[in-house]
Amino acid sequence: MTDKQQPRPGTLAVWAGETSKDLWQRATQIPVVHSVSFGYQDLDQWQNVALGKEEGHIYGRNTNPTVHAFEEKVRILEGAEAATSFATGMAAVSNGLYTFLKPGDRVVSVKDTYGGTNKIFLEFLPRLGVEVALCDTTDHEAIEAEVAKGCRILYLETPTNPTLKVIDLARLAQAGHKVGALVIVDNTFATPINSNPLQLGVDLVLHSATKFLGGHADALGGVICGSAELIEQIYHYREINGATLHPMAAYLLLRGMKTLHLRIRHQNESALKIAQFLQQHTAVDQVFYPGLPDHPNHDIARRQMRGFGGVLSFMLRGDFDTVRRFMPRLQYAHAAANLGAVETVVAPPRTSSHVESSRAEREAMGIPESLIRYSVGIEDSDDLIADLEQALAVT
Ligand SMILES: *Cc1c(COP(=O)(O)O)cnc(C)c1O
Repeated sequence: MTDKQQPRPGTLAVWAGETSKDLWQRATQIPVVHSVSFGYQDLDQWQNVALGKEEGHIYGRNTNPTVHAFEEKVRILEGAEAATSFATGMAAVSNGLYTFLKPGDRVVSVKDTYGGTNKIFLEFLPRLGVEVALCDTTDHEAIEAEVAKGCRILYLETPTNPTLKVIDLARLAQAGHKVGALVIVDNTFATPINSNPLQLGVDLVLHSATKFLGGHADALGGVICGSAELIEQIYHYREINGATLHPMAAYLLLRGMKTLHLRIRHQNESALKIAQFLQQHTAVDQVFYPGLPDHPNHDIARRQMRGFGGVLSFMLRGDFDTVRRFMPRLQYAHAAANLGAVETVVAPPRTSSHVESSRAEREAMGIPESLIRYSVGIEDSDDLIADLEQALAVT
C-alpha cells in the first residue's frame, strides 16, 4: 500500500467531525455545549473571532461546538466543502430557497416534492412574486424544457415520497447549469450512504436530519452542504433569520449518525427483501421500490445510487377500509408520520404526507387511497415479513 487509503463511509460515520479540539476533561465523546455565549477576556481575539479571522464561537444562534461537529460529520459524508445546519429539515429547505430568491425570479421543480416543500412552491413563493413551474417528476424532457426557459433555482428530490420515483441528477444538473441555475437536491430518502448528489454535479444537497441521519426519531434537524461560497450565504441568512439547530438535538443526531452506515446497509437489504415479498403477495396490487427491476426508474437508480434505500410503498387490493383493517394488525411498526427510524414506521399518505390534499388531488398525483408507505427499521427482516404476512391475511 503506497497512498494513504481514503476512509470509507462506515469509518467516516463513526469518526468524521469528532476531532474537536474542545473535548473537555479528556472526554472521548463530543459534549453538549449548553451555552448561549462564549466569553473573551482578550478584546482583540473576540473581534477576530467575530469577524471570522480566528476560529471560535461567539453566540449560540450563529455557531456552537456540538452543532459544528454534527455539520462536519454530514459535510464529510457528502464530500462537500462546507455545511450549515438548521432546526428542522423544512428550515433547511426554506432557508436554502429564500437565500437566493427575489421577486421576479423563477424556480423549476417537480410535483412529487415533500408536502411542506410543495406548500412553499404553491403558496409562499408565488406570494413573494417568484414564479414556480412544477413538472411531472420523471419527465426529464419536460423538466429540461422548463429549465431552458431560464430559472434561478432547479429544485429536485429523489427518491420521492411516497411513490419512490428516481430522478437523473447528473442529467438535470447539466441542464440547470446551462442556464446558470443553482441546482438543489433533497437527499433525505437516499442518505449520503446511498447517494452523493454533489458528485453528480449538483450545487447544494440538503437533508431532513430528523429522518435517517438521526435515525432514532428523537430529534428534529436539517442540514445543507455545498461549496464554501454558497454555504456562507445560506449561513448568513440562517444566522439572521434564526432557525438554529439546538445543541441537544445536534448531539442526538451526531450520536445517531455513528451507526448510519450500519443502519442504511441493513435497511437497504431488508427493504429489497420486503419489496420482493410484497410483490408476489396476492393481497398486494402494486409495490413501489427503486430496487425492483421492473420499477420504471430502476436503471437511473442503479447508476446513481449505491443502495436503494429503506423506504418502500405498496398498494393493497381494496380501498381505504382495507388499509383501516390492515394497519392496526402490524405488530412491528409505529403508525406515525415519520420515516427513517430504527423502528419500522408505516403511514398511509392520506393521513400523513398528503393529508392536506383532497382525494382528487391525491389521485391526480398518482397516490391511490390504498397506498401505504413502509419505512423499514433495523429489525430482522424475517420478522417484518412474517408480521406483514399475518396482517395481509385479513385484508
Ligand atoms: C421530513 C422531510 C422533510 C422535512 O423535514 P422536517 O425535519 O420534518 O422539517 C423534508 N424533505 C423530506 C424528503 C422529508 O422526508
